[in-house]
Amino acid sequence: MIPEGTQPPGWVPFLFSHAIKQLLLRYLGMKRNKVLIVYTGGTIGMVQDENGSLHPFALDRIYDAVPQLKSCQYGIDSITLPSIIDSSCMTPSMWVNIAEIIEREYDRYDGFVVLHGTDTMAYTASALSFMFKNLDKPIVFTGSQLPLGMLRSDGRENIICALEIASTRLVTIPEVCIFFESHLYRGNRSTKINAENFDAFESYNYPSLAKAGINISFKEHLFLPMPTEPLQVRKKFDTRVAILKLFPGIGPEIVNSVLHTPELQGVVIETYGSGNAPTDEWFISALDDAIRRGIIVLNVTQCKAGSVKMRQYAASCDMDRIGVIGAGDITIEAAIAKMMCLLGEYPDDKAHVKMRLSQSLRGEITE
Ligand code: ASP
Repeated sequence: MIPEGTQPPGWVPFLFSHAIKQLLLRYLGMKRNKVLIVYTGGTIGMVQDENGSLHPFALDRIYDAVPQLKSCQYGIDSITLPSIIDSSCMTPSMWVNIAEIIEREYDRYDGFVVLHGTDTMAYTASALSFMFKNLDKPIVFTGSQLPLGMLRSDGRENIICALEIASTRLVTIPEVCIFFESHLYRGNRSTKINAENFDAFESYNYPSLAKAGINISFKEHLFLPMPTEPLQVRKKFDTRVAILKLFPGIGPEIVNSVLHTPELQGVVIETYGSGNAPTDEWFISALDDAIRRGIIVLNVTQCKAGSVKMRQYAASCDMDRIGVIGAGDITIEAAIAKMMCLLGEYPDDKAHVKMRLSQSLRGEITE
């Protein structure tokens, strides 16, 4: 035992561990981290031709559009989806295409950047978060409000930061995220809030995972935990689902036409406030009948922030009694993607799907 008074001051072990860390980083630095860009389309992927019109660019021209990438410290490869789309044309089968590329290349890269249109980015990021179980590398979605080919494009900044985050050695982000206008958000917590401004995304119910300023400051305590099991990728979606948004004046014709959609398996109802809905007899019995026919009914609030709290008001007690599931503070994008994914994965086990819908699978619900 070292006698008291002869112990080294507290900063000595710190300096020592710091020196080891620096040496390790230098050693690791010999091998560059590698990032794969998966290019799906969207505004970001457009350049102006000599006549000034915008058109999608081939990703091999990315260094022309973002010359700063030539001097970056990590390796970049890219893959383009067979058809480059406006993300309003996104489909679950394209989610599977993106996931299959990442799954195939998973061991060869340290992180992935998905270039995607902003309109449905939150849906795709949510879907991928549920598809990838035990993810231990970052998948960072980004895009832009102005095309890369335009002088004031926000795309350059977004793509450079997204690549930096996907390749960083400072932290490991085992999550599907969205980087936009200096913030890194959890993908399944994000929502597009602005069709005009550069800060187009927000995550109302969960803080951002990192902020890019002079440095990128990571909030590691907010990351999902590192998995201990091997990666699994789920690729089945059941699209026999619907979203029913309530409004004052909604009548039985609309509600019943949705709930009697042939083959419907699940419906997300967008309710008011903390999960409230009309208490009219016709409404509750329409939902009750649907639930008895095996349709899953999930309660998500129309509010951007805050949570469904079943039974907080009398206006949600009947729904709770008949078996409507409260989905907490999940976003509508994450709710519908999660429902399709769980129904696809467990087609014969509705009880299991219901149970998982009320729980957080990838940090999409505050528990
Ligand atoms: N309509 C475009 C898309 O989502 C918008 C964008 O990328 O910002 O593909």
